[in-house]
Amino acid sequence: MSDAKPKVAFYWCSSCGGCEESIVDLAEDILKVVAAVDIVFWPVALDFKKKDVEAMADGSIAVSFINGAIRLSEQEEMVKLLRKKSQLIVAHGSCSHLGGIPGLGNFWNKETIFRRAYLSTPSTENPDQTVPLEKTVLQDGKELTLPTFFDTVYALDQVIDVDYYLPGCAPPRDLILSAVSAILEGKLPPKGSVLAPNKSECDTCDRNKTKPEKLAIKEIKRTWEVVLDPEKCFLAQGVICLGPATRDGCGHRCINGNMPCRGCFGPTDQIYDQGAKFLSALASILDTNDEKEIDKIVGSIVDPAGTFYRFSLPKSILGRRRMEDIK
Ligand code: SF4
Ligand code: SF4
Repeated sequence: MSDAKPKVAFYWCSSCGGCEESIVDLAEDILKVVAAVDIVFWPVALDFKKKDVEAMADGSIAVSFINGAIRLSEQEEMVKLLRKKSQLIVAHGSCSHLGGIPGLGNFWNKETIFRRAYLSTPSTENPDQTVPLEKTVLQDGKELTLPTFFDTVYALDQVIDVDYYLPGCAPPRDLILSAVSAILEGKLPPKGSVLAPNKSECDTCDRNKTKPEKLAIKEIKRTWEVVLDPEKCFLAQGVICLGPATRDGCGHRCINGNMPCRGCFGPTDQIYDQGAKFLSALASILDTNDEKEIDKIVGSIVDPAGTFYRFSLPKSILGRRRMEDIK
């Protein structure tokens, strides 16, 4: 290991592990990355401890890639520590960038989540009604502690200052490799940039040319309710595709697999709220002005909030649901 190599850290917060996989998916290219940098912290793969990071000089890590949303006090503590020790922080993946799938927890709070997860699911057997506690005193008097579970899930930049964003669930390898090269070569765009093209998914989608001049739909279907034409725009087939409200750069992995875009790259720079943008795109293609018919079409969308804000709820205008009305 040479001291001249830039030091790099990887950390995961509230995540599924897919973003860690995206590093492993670099396959033999990971050897190029390892040759160019010193990995000084990567809990999922290497046995570094928090105290190793605490012992590092402030700003001594060139870049920390952090995936996952912030749901626990431990995650908040670790990302604040990494911020202090790092020159650059990259939010790696949708959860870190926008709150992602864990961010859908913002439709609930700690109490309702714990009640559902530990007490009320049909398969739960919990006669003592035990739920995780922050402090447990054992028979021998020893105390066990768990991190605080927040009511609200946060995107990374709602907790610390973030320099760059690598979008995607998970970010594709080409995007990761070009981000690493840009960092190593010092060819980074302005701070705050999302490291992916600032165009919409529709702009580069091959199916765009199959869209009729005026899209008009009378019915919304789920993917399993229709035999999907592999060439035709999903919206023209009455299937929700978040392409109009989503940033390009994923390589159309879902669309090439004949599945509509679910929005994991988040909005382009011109869009403030991805869900609201899609809602307005959808409203413009409904082929009716009759209020009852509109209600019926919109009412046929299963879980509209979860569909339009699947990856972006914590960073949306909504942010979270008001819990006052929930019993
Ligand atoms: S962005 Fe996707 S792959 Fe990455 S941690 Fe979140 S859910 Fe998993
Ligand atoms: S809506 Fe979806 S399928 Fe249609 S052009 Fe846009 S990205 Fe492609």
